[in-house]
Amino acid sequence: MRLVAAPAPRLAGDLADRVIVVDPGHQLGNHNFPRKIGRRVPAGGFTKPCNTTGTATDGGYPEATFAWRVARQLRRALIDRGAQVVLTRHSNREDRWGPCVDVRGRAGNAVDADLKISIHGDGSTAPDAHGFHVIAPIDRKPWTHDIFSDSTRLATTARQALDAAGFDRATYVAGGDGLDFRGDLATLNLSDVPTILVELGNMRDSGDAQVMTSADGQAAYAAALVEAVRRYLR
Ligand SMILES: [Zn+2]
Repeated sequence: MRLVAAPAPRLAGDLADRVIVVDPGHQLGNHNFPRKIGRRVPAGGFTKPCNTTGTATDGGYPEATFAWRVARQLRRALIDRGAQVVLTRHSNREDRWGPCVDVRGRAGNAVDADLKISIHGDGSTAPDAHGFHVIAPIDRKPWTHDIFSDSTRLATTARQALDAAGFDRATYVAGGDGLDFRGDLATLNLSDVPTILVELGNMRDSGDAQVMTSADGQAAYAAALVEAVRRYLR
C-alpha cells in the first residue's frame, strides 16, 4: 500500500525527481552467517554465493564499515540536492547479514532508478597496489546489453570525478586506466538501470587505508561520487 500525502514541496536541488540507488557493499555481520552468505543465488545466467565477508585494512577496519560511511554521506548529499535515495541495506551491524548480490543487482529496477552505485574497497595484496577503479558491466545479451553504454558513461564520469578529487587510479587493475569491465558480478548483471561498482581504494595498502579510514577521506570519496552523479545526470 502506498500512502499519498499532500504534494511534497518541490525541492530546489538540481537532482529533484531523480531516484538513485546507493549500494554499500557487504554487511558487517556477514562473517557470522556463513551458511546464509554461502547460499547460491542467480547472478545473470549463472549462480554465485549470496555475498562475501568483504575485506579489511591490515589494522582490521572492515570494508563494510567503510562502504557504509561513504554511502551514508553520499545519501545525505543527494537528498540535500532533492534526490530520492534508496539504500540496499539499512544498518551496519555484526548481527545482520546481506542482502544477497541478486537483490543488490535488482535494487534499482522496481523503483526505475536513474542509476545505481555500489560502494566497495578492494583487498589486493599485490606489492604497491593502491588507487581506485570503477567497474562497469560488459556488453552481454540479454543481461547488460540494455545498460552497457549508459553504464560506461557513468563509469567514465565517476573516474573523472575521482581524478578531479585527487585520487590515484589503480595501477594494478586492467591497463591502469581506472576502469574495468566485468561480466561476473550479479550486482551489475541483474540491473536494468545504469550501474557501476566503485572500488574506491585498496584497503590492504597502508596509504589508501589511512585515507579510507579517516573522516576527511570518506567525505572526499562521497563528495566525488556526488559530483559524478550530478555530471552524469546533467
Ligand atoms: Zn567489496
